[in-house]
Formats: sequence, C-alpha cells, structure tokens
Amino acid sequence: MNIVGVRRRRSRSAWLPPIHLVLQPGCSLEKGGECSFYISSSLSVQWSQYRLESPYPPTQSQCTFRKQEMAAVTKTEKKKLHCPALEELCNVLESGLNKNFADVQVGVVDCPDLTKEPFQFPVKGLCGNPRITDVGGVPYLVPLVQRHKEYDMNTVSKEVELPGAFILGAAAAPSRVVGMNAEFMPLVKTETEGRPAVNGSYFSSINPADGKCLQEKYSDTFPGCQFGLMGNLYACEGKPGKVIEVRVKKRTGEDSLVTAMRKTLEAHYPDKNLALGGTFIIQKGKAKIHIMPREFSVCPLNTDDEVNNWLKHYEIDAPIICLSVFVSKDPGLDLRVEHTHCFSHHGEGGHYYIDTTPDTVEYMGYFLPAEYLYRIDRPQESHAIGRD
Ligand SMILES: [Zn+2]
Repeated sequence: MNIVGVRRRRSRSAWLPPIHLVLQPGCSLEKGGECSFYISSSLSVQWSQYRLESPYPPTQSQCTFRKQEMAAVTKTEKKKLHCPALEELCNVLESGLNKNFADVQVGVVDCPDLTKEPFQFPVKGLCGNPRITDVGGVPYLVPLVQRHKEYDMNTVSKEVELPGAFILGAAAAPSRVVGMNAEFMPLVKTETEGRPAVNGSYFSSINPADGKCLQEKYSDTFPGCQFGLMGNLYACEGKPGKVIEVRVKKRTGEDSLVTAMRKTLEAHYPDKNLALGGTFIIQKGKAKIHIMPREFSVCPLNTDDEVNNWLKHYEIDAPIICLSVFVSKDPGLDLRVEHTHCFSHHGEGGHYYIDTTPDTVEYMGYFLPAEYLYRIDRPQESHAIGRD
C-alpha cells in the first residue's frame, strides 16, 4: 500500500518535500499504529520507525507521523585493494585451480556480451571501475532478524562512488517489499539522471504448495531496487572489455570453484587483499544450494547447526548461472569472504555452495579484480555464525 505526498514537518515554519511511504505488510494504519519507511539520500540509507498519529486515510494537513527511532547506519569504510595485471592473475589462478580440478584453462579474453543467452544481464560487460561492497551482514539475520535493515541498489551505487553502476552478487530479498524472506540474485543497472534503473534480478523462495524452489524475476512483480539485511556486491560500469576467463572440468579436490579461487589468491598474496567479482556458469552436473524460509526464525539461531537446520537445502540441475563476489582475506572489516547466488532459466536458484557431481562438472566463468572495497553499514555487534 502506498501513501504518496505525505508531508513531514521539520519545524514550525518549514516543511520537507513530500515523501513516499510504503507500509509494512500487516500494518493496520490505525491511529497509534506503527509503520516504517526509508529515506534514501545520496549519502546514506536510513530507516526510520514512524508512528501514525492521525487516522487513515490521511490528508496532507491531517496525517502526521512521529519518528520513533532512527536506525543507526554505520559510516561507509573504503579500502584500496591489490589489483594485479590480468595476465599475472591468470597464471596464479591456473596453477592454484590445478590442485582442485583435472582440466583447467585460465586466460584473458574479451568479455562475452552479457545481454545475450544464457546471461541476459542488463549490461554488456563486467568492465569499467570494478569495485565490491559488503553491505550489512549476517548479524542482521541471526540470531534474530532486524527487519528494518533495508538498502537500495541506487543508493549503494552512489555509496561506492559509481552512480548508474551495474551491480551483481548475492543478497537477501527486501522482506518488507516482497512480504516474505527470500534469496536475492541482484542484477541491476542502477539509475542515473534521465535514465531509470533496469532491474534484472531474480529471487527464490520455498514454494508453500510443494516445498520446492520457486524462482521468480523480481521486476515481474515488484518495483524498485531494494534488498534486505546483507549483500555482497560487485559494481562496475557494465562496459565490454578484457576479463579473466576460467574454464574448469572434473573436480578432484574438496573446494568449490569459488573457494578454490579464493584460497589460491590468499596463498599467493598472503599480505595483500584482493577481491574478484563476476559470473560463472555450471554447464554440466548438479549443485547444492540453500533457500531461506519465507518466515524469519522466531527462535534465536545461535549456532551454525541451528542456521543450517532452519535453511532448506536443494540439489539443482545445470545449466546454472552464478553471481559471485569473493575476497582473498578480510582486512578487518568483518567481511563475508565469499558469497555466491545463482539462478537458472528452468526455475531453480538460490545460495550456491558447491557442485555435487565432481566427475562430470564443467564450469565457465568471467571475473575481474576489484580496485576498491566499500564496507557499508557494518554491524556494530558481530559474530561468525552462518557465513558458509
Ligand atoms: Zn546467500
């Protein structure tokens, strides 16, 4: 439900511009009822809890909301990352991946046109000022959810100093908008002046009818570019250009493709921080994924086992398109060092762990090293639970 054009009183004499309110599902809108809305500015994402002080329906002169609480948003931290030449990275990755896969080819290529099948992204390439951001975090999901933690891709693009950026990665769906909890696969060309955002994202939930995975295109049902709780995102200008191509077949080690790449970088550059973002396809085989339940846990989830028992796990079929962000090593910013979500064109997707068919699996991926890392709204109280 939308209330449009409600005015917010700043002082006795001054009025702020109209704001748009989207009420939380179930909000009764009675006098004294509470609702939440966000204010996004070029600098920060802010959520506030407001109380409706007069009856619904509102008029501009009658309806007032009293601010309950301003959710604290920590200041964004920025770090320059080590960003070696692509040829150097190819050599390092190829020798490392050989320890985990039987057949490995890594090279510098022109990024394939990502607007084409099977990707169908809203931009052509992964190039132009590559950077990553870790937004929010698992501590906003467990032990108990902090529902007010919601972010906007358009605001994130400004926070990472790249307005209009293309953003991909792994996040949680905006539960206030969607009306439930779900996995989110962000693929957003954010807005710039004169051009609206293009949201090619998917989200996956557990189908209450049969318990199976239900993947949907976000913009088929919902407007806007919000996401919830956490996001590990790669941002760039979406341009064509040179990228690292990774082709591997037959897994001989215990690590997933992402973990193998991350550990390779960590071992080769022990004193540096590198981050890669990009996309890869599981061309053959199956993969293990999870999807969060539609309802947040009402019992505190205090251990990895409790989180895993709450999550629902699936095995899904190739071809699967993955969106991945990983950091070789946390420079002390409470990062999730790797996070990959995936979607498919056959209705399955979610949070990727690893392939389950090592003998037959085939991967093909495109990556770029990020030049900067931005830590947005880092949780002030943190823990290491639920970061697999
Ligand atoms: Zn995830």
